[in-house]
Amino acid sequence: MRIFCIANQKGGVGKTTTTVNLAAGLAQLGHRVLLVDLDPQGNATMGSGIDKRALEASVYDVLLGATGIAEARQPSPHGGYHVLGANRELAGAEVELVPLEQRERRLKAALAAVKAEYDFVLIDCPPSLSLLTLNGLCSAHGVIVPMQCEYFALEGLSDLVNTIKQVHANLNRELEIIGLLRVMFDPRITLQQQVSDQLKAHFGDKVFDTVIPRNVRLAEAPSYGQPGVTFDPASKGAQAFVAFAREMAARLGHKPAA
Ligand code: ADP
Ligand code: MG
Repeated sequence: MRIFCIANQKGGVGKTTTTVNLAAGLAQLGHRVLLVDLDPQGNATMGSGIDKRALEASVYDVLLGATGIAEARQPSPHGGYHVLGANRELAGAEVELVPLEQRERRLKAALAAVKAEYDFVLIDCPPSLSLLTLNGLCSAHGVIVPMQCEYFALEGLSDLVNTIKQVHANLNRELEIIGLLRVMFDPRITLQQQVSDQLKAHFGDKVFDTVIPRNVRLAEAPSYGQPGVTFDPASKGAQAFVAFAREMAARLGHKPAA
């Protein structure tokens, strides 16, 4: 089981879209996938077709030790993967976790119990470098960073890179940046092309080959409770995410289970 955080401390950069569609893409390739929603906004939960207001148990209960992942997860109706959902209740965990023992390793401990059941765990992080994100980073083997090729993109990256370095040094020796994923890309915009070139010059093969284009079907899919990958498989956005799932699996040398 390989565990990845999808993280970027900026909001609206495509973290949730990446998590949901990579989960569906990997599932389509035959991998067993668990999506963990670590954002109190619960967008990955809703976008996977699960009503966040009706969760009987959520990642909040798991972090506080009230239940296990096996009890709290649910299948995504269309996605082909499992979801450990989140809703607003999770915002409280930020404070409630503070006095607890091993407060940044609660998710890691919970994931250990379902180790045999999944090939991939994808964690959708909130747009902050909070105790919730720290739980994600402490659990993970690597971080996938979605980013838009905008003027300040590189600057914003340095906080995240520093946090990952600190977590690597102090809490999780396994953690590394797997790669930067260019999302909402529009090749007609010269500036985006330039920033994309800078990214490659600076980060080399840490930049994924696959580029996710700006595609309206990806933005429409969540309101139908589906990943774009299943909502409109023929769309450019869906095809890019399936290609990205292939690239991820290939980088890790993963073959589908049976
Ligand atoms: P984050 O989780 O980082 O806040 P989201 O994944 O929710 O970001 O994306 C922010 C907004 O951009 C959403 O409305 C989403 O539907 C839209 N979006 C994300 N990726 C794309 C894309 N490739 N093409 C078009 N719209 C996108
Ligand atoms: Mg999000």
